[in-house]
Amino acid sequence: MSECTLKKVTEHSPEEIERVKEWINTEDYKEKNFDRKALVVNPAHACQPLGAQMVATAFEGSLPFVHGSQGCASYFRSTFSRHYREPAAATCDAMTEDGAVFGGQNNLFEGLENAYALYKPKMMPVYTTCMPEVIGDDLTAFIRNAKLQGHIPEELPTPYANTPSFNGTHIHGYDSMMLAILKYLTEGQKVEGKCTGKLNLIPGFDGNTGNTREYKRLLEAMDIPYTVMADTSEVFDTPCDGTYKLYAGGTKLEDAAESINGKATISLQKYSTLTTMKWIGKEYSGAIETMPMPFGVKKTDEFLMKLSEMFGKPIPEKLKEERGLAVDAMTDAHQYLHGKKFAVVGDPDYLIGIVSFLLEMGAIPHHVLCSRATKKFSKEMQALLDSSPFGQGCTVYINKDLWHMRSLLVTDPVDGIIGDTHAKWAARDAKIPLFRIGFPIIDRVNLHRSPVIGYQGAINILTMIANKFLDIKDETCEDQWFEMMR
Ligand code: SF4
Repeated sequence: MSECTLKKVTEHSPEEIERVKEWINTEDYKEKNFDRKALVVNPAHACQPLGAQMVATAFEGSLPFVHGSQGCASYFRSTFSRHYREPAAATCDAMTEDGAVFGGQNNLFEGLENAYALYKPKMMPVYTTCMPEVIGDDLTAFIRNAKLQGHIPEELPTPYANTPSFNGTHIHGYDSMMLAILKYLTEGQKVEGKCTGKLNLIPGFDGNTGNTREYKRLLEAMDIPYTVMADTSEVFDTPCDGTYKLYAGGTKLEDAAESINGKATISLQKYSTLTTMKWIGKEYSGAIETMPMPFGVKKTDEFLMKLSEMFGKPIPEKLKEERGLAVDAMTDAHQYLHGKKFAVVGDPDYLIGIVSFLLEMGAIPHHVLCSRATKKFSKEMQALLDSSPFGQGCTVYINKDLWHMRSLLVTDPVDGIIGDTHAKWAARDAKIPLFRIGFPIIDRVNLHRSPVIGYQGAINILTMIANKFLDIKDETCEDQWFEMMR
């Protein structure tokens, strides 16, 4: 082997490296960091089509189909696989340079034909990556042509959504795909005067399968028949029994089609279902509500009371008892959270829920950061903070990233940060614990199985946070303060 010397592009002395390391922890650097306009560093959001895929995969027999680049499709699949530690089936028509020049219609024809022949799906929802969106591929015409030319059967459901990542995030992709699927499946299904008696529950973009299971458990405890749309719980959390199921779980297509005649529809994430709920409000029968995710006791109470009102069912004793257990757990743990300062990063709906829980515990949300949000979200968050004495010193940052968050943590410290795995670098630099709630969580196991909503979720969150603070105390205290009892 020949010897060669690599010449560094830019040489820096150890002193210079030390100087910069210290400088990026200063107010001076923070100001420059917040002046940043063109560059995003470690954003706390994912691509639009990834959100579309979460919906597309969560219907029975549904094969998500990516119209666009193979690399993008691999990123969506690997992110889901890393988060859930499960296979994440999806296919792609792998557009390359020729597709970018001549359009992706031929790729789509071949891709749809092969995918249908090989995997026999009941539905193939199609969504796009940036490349076909930049060149202006016409999905409506392409899919119609694919059916006219016999590449796929006419009757195969092929809802589709345009999901350009340069114009939105995973929550917008979730919204667009949900709208497309519901429009497609419910077409011609509305019957005046018919009522299925069921609740349609839309959880929104939620990487926590435990949450979906918890929603179902609460509804069963209330004796309310339901359809969860889209139901990821069995798609991304399947039993390990030695067999691979390509189409595990998911919302049944006929249930989704019938949802238009439901007794009521509730979305539990306002910001990830904006256009879907607007359309449902015009087209669906029954009562329509958008509510915040039921984080903590107050919001869980509101959710259950709303169900009780809509369906005329009393809150069962079992759930009242669970509420009491949650209040007891909060009382036991409140001394370890009360007065602690937190930074929180995540999707708008998760942020509203987590901040509400922190305020309930007497904890202090100090920096709240969302990497894609509107002024409406800022106002809603501010109103929530203003409603509690513990929310008074908090600043809400929208359209900022985790490099901004790092500056905040090192110049204006807090006791812990709540967010997804992407926040671990900022947490490490600030020497504070990261409490993993959100999506994706790819450096810890099984957290997606542990609900963070409902009374049980409140117990889970406060247990995780309080015990971590106690661990830190045990690990860092002087010998005379190393106590048996905490
Ligand atoms: S931003 Fe666009 S091109 Fe990049 S991975 Fe996402 S969808 Fe693909």
